[in-house]
Amino acid sequence: MTAKHYDLAVVGAGIVGLGHAVAALRRGLTVAVVDRASTIGGASVRNFGHLCLTAQDGEAREYAELARELWLTLAPAAGFWLKESGTVVVARADDELAVLSEFQDARGDDEVRMLSAGEVRELVPVGDGVAVGGAMLPRDLQVDPREASLAIAQWLEAHGVDFFWSTAVLAVETGVVHTTRGRVAADAVVVAVNYDVDLLFPGIAEAHGIQRCGLDMLLVDADLERPLSAPLLTGWSLLRYAGFTGLSSAAGLRARLADEHPELLALDLNQMYTQRPDGSLIVGDTHYRGADVPPFQSEAAFDALLEQARLLFGTDRIRVRERWQGVYASAPDEFLLASPAPQVRVVSVTTGIGMTTGLGFAERVVGKLFSSAPALAGAGTAG
Ligand SMILES: Cc1cc2nc3c(=O)[nH]c(=O)nc-3n(C[C@H](O)[C@H](O)[C@H](O)COP(=O)(O)OP(=O)(O)OC[C@H]3O[C@@H](n4cnc5c(N)ncnc54)[C@H](O)[C@@H]3O)c2cc1C
Repeated sequence: MTAKHYDLAVVGAGIVGLGHAVAALRRGLTVAVVDRASTIGGASVRNFGHLCLTAQDGEAREYAELARELWLTLAPAAGFWLKESGTVVVARADDELAVLSEFQDARGDDEVRMLSAGEVRELVPVGDGVAVGGAMLPRDLQVDPREASLAIAQWLEAHGVDFFWSTAVLAVETGVVHTTRGRVAADAVVVAVNYDVDLLFPGIAEAHGIQRCGLDMLLVDADLERPLSAPLLTGWSLLRYAGFTGLSSAAGLRARLADEHPELLALDLNQMYTQRPDGSLIVGDTHYRGADVPPFQSEAAFDALLEQARLLFGTDRIRVRERWQGVYASAPDEFLLASPAPQVRVVSVTTGIGMTTGLGFAERVVGKLFSSAPALAGAGTAG
């Protein structure tokens, strides 16, 4: 397949695999990326493009901060759309406002700015009388998921990273990646195949409790009063991200939503929205976990997502452009990092925050694998 010997071979060209290639390039290393698909089509294009760092905690927060700097450097270098948008969280009830207020107390003014109902309406077109208040998380970012990872891959290729598309990896050992087109030799190998860890390393997947999490998503055109100035989270999101869920007021919110909306809780709803540069709105999402994701998406779930959007934005004029299913790896821990053989790492972001954290996680993994090669400043090589 190739006689070349690389410093690093990466299996998987999603944002996590690409992050490892970026981190290696920053150290002046030679890199090959192998993906079984003909282009990027996994979770890294099926998401909201929401770089939601403020709501993260612990290890995820550390990776998200690192990733933020890398996103800000990569966007102009690779030429893709990135908005320093912040995030708006709309509160529709006092208990949601209480969680945001506790979050503000914990994080301070630089990270969380409380908003009045009127200020929420100025930033996002929620219906009249819907909001009781909200918060702005000013450090969060937004990218267009249809564009960003692809642009990073093209940028890497232009800087000498070799991509082997339509090439499935069958097995990995120290120094060698075995593929359907032959072998790739490399000093180190990183396997970043998202939920498909169980196909290459079933023992690791079992030991870490890795499952697949399926999500129902929509792209819609909506007649809104004005565009969304930022990604929009709701009270449902306050039950989700680690920065919120650890707060004492979150338990009461969960109990109230479970009582009032058991059907939405059963869908494991995270009601949230991002608006792409062309004006279309990404609407989501539901969650269902298992060893496999059923191929049959429930229309009832889409009905619920659309009904919630109508209620929030106070409009019936919402037309569906696309529906799709996203899948990501899910496990009790937020990150998988395993070493099945010397100089081989198996990595996965095992909750739905890989766009936010993946680049930072990768930077840490490569930094440890190649500790003698310091990273250059910026995203990569000159030019
Ligand atoms: C609907 C949805 C919404 C989300 N929203 C957000 C969000 O707004 N913000 C956020 O931070 N995160 C979000 N996430 C999570 C984020 O998208 C994922 O965590 C991230 O994209 C995972 O990246 P990845 O590189 O691990 O996986 P993927 O992008 O799925 O890439 C894995 C790659 O591995 C390749 N591969 C698999 N097996 C092999 C093999 N044997 N040989 C060769 N190649 C192989 C696949 O072809 C694929 O290209 C969302 C996820 C989903 C599904």
